[in-house]
Amino acid sequence: MSAPKPSANSNFHMPSEDFRKAAEQLTEWIIAYRDGIEKFPVKSQVLPGEVAKSLPVHPPENGESFDQVLKDVERFILPGVTHWQSPNFFAYFPANASEPSLLGDMLSSALGIQGMLWETGPACTELEIVVLDWLAEMLDLPAQFHSRNNGGGVIQDSASGATLCAILSARERATNFSANENGVGQSLTAYTSAHAHSSIEKDIKIAGIGRKNLRLIEVADDFTMRADLLEKAIEQDKKDGKTPFFVCAAVGTTSTLAVDPVEEIGRICRKHNVWLHVDAAMAGTAAICPEFRYIQRGVELADSFVFDAHKWLFTNFDCSCYYVADRAALTNALSITPEYLRNTATESGAVTDFREWHVPLGRRFRALKLWFVIRHYGVEGLRFHIRQHVELTKWLASEIKNDDRFELSAPQSLNLVCFRLKGTDEQNQQLMSALNKSGKMYLSHTKLNGKFVLRLCVGQTKTERHHVEQAWEMIKAEAEKIA
Ligand code: PLP
Repeated sequence: MSAPKPSANSNFHMPSEDFRKAAEQLTEWIIAYRDGIEKFPVKSQVLPGEVAKSLPVHPPENGESFDQVLKDVERFILPGVTHWQSPNFFAYFPANASEPSLLGDMLSSALGIQGMLWETGPACTELEIVVLDWLAEMLDLPAQFHSRNNGGGVIQDSASGATLCAILSARERATNFSANENGVGQSLTAYTSAHAHSSIEKDIKIAGIGRKNLRLIEVADDFTMRADLLEKAIEQDKKDGKTPFFVCAAVGTTSTLAVDPVEEIGRICRKHNVWLHVDAAMAGTAAICPEFRYIQRGVELADSFVFDAHKWLFTNFDCSCYYVADRAALTNALSITPEYLRNTATESGAVTDFREWHVPLGRRFRALKLWFVIRHYGVEGLRFHIRQHVELTKWLASEIKNDDRFELSAPQSLNLVCFRLKGTDEQNQQLMSALNKSGKMYLSHTKLNGKFVLRLCVGQTKTERHHVEQAWEMIKAEAEKIA
C-alpha cells in the first residue's frame, strides 16, 4: 500500500480498498500479538526517554503508508509496551480485555458516536441503561440501583471520576444545593479508611472540601475499616460544629482487597444522615458468583456504588460502572443546560441524558463492548473464569503459607495474595526487582504495618494454572539466590 497522494478527483483520505487491506493487516497483527504475547518481557525494559528519543521530533509533511506506520509500531512502540494482557501479568490490579470486548470497541470507534444526549445517540443511551441493569442483576445489587426504580447505572471513565461524582452529589445534598451556587461555605467532613484508594483523597481535594476535612479511619488487624472509630469521628465532628457528609467504604481495598464492614458503616451513615459511597473498583466483579456475594453485605444501605468492569470483567479500559440510588441527587448536582444543547427529547422528560451523570460532556459508545462481552460469555462463562482466578490464588496462598521462607502478610482475599520473604525490606525489594527484570512475570508491592510486601493478583484473561505455577517456581528460585 503506497502513501496517499491527492489527485484531481481524490483527496488525502484513505480509500476504502486501502482501509480494508490495512484493517486486515492490523487484525492479523493483533491476533499474532495476542497469541505470541508470552515472548515479550511482561514489563517494558526501556529507560525513561528512550521511546521519545526514537521518534522524529517533527511531524511528517507528507502522508506515509500504513505499512510504514505498522513497522514503526514494532520498532519503536513495542519495546516501550508493558504487556498488561500477558497471562504473566500479576501486578497492581489487572486491566483485562477479551476478544469480544475488542470487537465492541472497534465497532464503537467505527460508529464514532458522541452520546452526550439521548438526542445525539439514542441507542448509545438506551443500550447503556439496559446493560447496566443486566449487570446490576448479575451482581445481585439491591433494587434501588436499577433504572426501573429511582436509581440507575452509568459508564464512566474511571472509579476516580465516579467517586468524584458521589462526593459532589453528597456535597450538594448536604448543603441543600447551595455549594454549587455559593461555594462550600460550611465545614463539611468526609471519612474513609486509612487503606482507601488515593483517589478518594484526590477527589476530596478536587471537590473543594479540603484535605484537612478528610478523616482517615484506622483499620483493624485484617485491614478493614474500624466502624466504631468511624462513628466516634463523626460524633466528634458534629460536636465541633462540622457537617459530616460523606463516607467511602471499600469493598476490596487496593493494598489487600480487604472488605470494609459495609452493613455497620451503612447503619452509622443512616443514623447521621451521611452519604455512603461503596468503592468496589476491583472486587465488585466477584459478586457475579453467588458464593462471593458476601462482599455485598450491607450495600442496600449505600447511596452509590462503583466497580470497574475494566479491571476484572474482561472488558477493556475504560469501563467503570457507577450506580446511584437516587439519580436526581446526581443530575441535580451536575446538570447545566446551555441553549445549544436544548432539544425536544430532553424537554419531554422521557429520556436520559448521560452528560448529566458525570463530569465530561462527551462520551463514547462504551456499552457496546460490555454488551458484546456479556453476550459472548454469558453469565456462566464469566463466572467460570472469575472462579478459576480465585481458585488459583487460593492455591498460591496455601503454597506460600506452607513454605517456611515466606509469610502471608494479609488474609488472602479473592484473587489477591500479599506475601513477603521472611527477611528485610531490602531483600523483598530485591526479590521483586529480580522477578520483574526477568521479563517472565510482573508483580507489584505495597506497605503493610510498615513492611515492604509483594502483591500478586491473578486476573488476566488468559492466565491459567501453569502460569501461576511457573510464577511460584520463579519466586522460590529467586528467593533461593537472595537467602
Ligand atoms: N478504588 C480502588 C479500590 C482501586 O483499587 C482503584 C485502582 O486500582 C481505584 C479506585 C481507581 O480506579 P480507576 O483507575 O478506575 O480510577
